[in-house]
Amino acid sequence: MGVPENYKSIIQEIASFHSERPPILIAVSKFQPQSKVREGLAGGVLHFGENRVQEGSEKFKDLGAAGKDFILHHIGPVQSSHIRKYPGMFSFAHGLGSKKVLDELLSRIEREKWTLRYFLQVNLTGEDSKSGFSREEVISLLKNKEDYSGEYCKLEGLMTMGPSSGDPEITRRVFRELADIRKEFLPEGKLSMGMSGDYRIAIEEGSDYLRIGTAIFGDRS
Ligand SMILES: *Cc1c(COP(=O)(O)O)cnc(C)c1O
Repeated sequence: MGVPENYKSIIQEIASFHSERPPILIAVSKFQPQSKVREGLAGGVLHFGENRVQEGSEKFKDLGAAGKDFILHHIGPVQSSHIRKYPGMFSFAHGLGSKKVLDELLSRIEREKWTLRYFLQVNLTGEDSKSGFSREEVISLLKNKEDYSGEYCKLEGLMTMGPSSGDPEITRRVFRELADIRKEFLPEGKLSMGMSGDYRIAIEEGSDYLRIGTAIFGDRS
């Protein structure tokens, strides 16, 4: 099936779980050619995700200049070098997992006055391959959450990834744990969780933003 058909079938599936407040579907176009993004745009995709800031900027720059309507999410781990490439290009960042980078981001935004909504990434599987704050670290940040939003930047919520094994029981436990942290420490916040292999579990556990790549665009080249 083509990109528009895949996208529509997932949108319909989401609606069947959740008719009232369906999660936002981010089509993750990382490593996909611009032609696939164009297919997505023609099929009604609004939210796109890229994990490499430079690659994403190049892919979307002329589409923006041509007046195409899209909202771009940076879904990978945020590093200092990424931040200056955000303005005018990325509206959301999902992978804030370091206090140093977070402080840099906040001071830069206040100084330069551009807008961003971001998620704190939490590593709840304990896997070294995943970045993010530990449960304890994120809770301690959230106790001072008013320090982390301002006029131009907003702490939108919490993001996590399921285990690399894809084990559904561990996945559910991890997603539920993120939802519990949100409920207690950031009740107004959103949850970014669920990828191609685990988005159904994520929807059941209350995700607000799904980040889905291969199930929409096919395998990455
Ligand atoms: C690649 C990626 C996704 C999408 O993965 P799929 O399995 O292709 O759906 C989602 N979130 C992050 C952080 C990613 O790096």
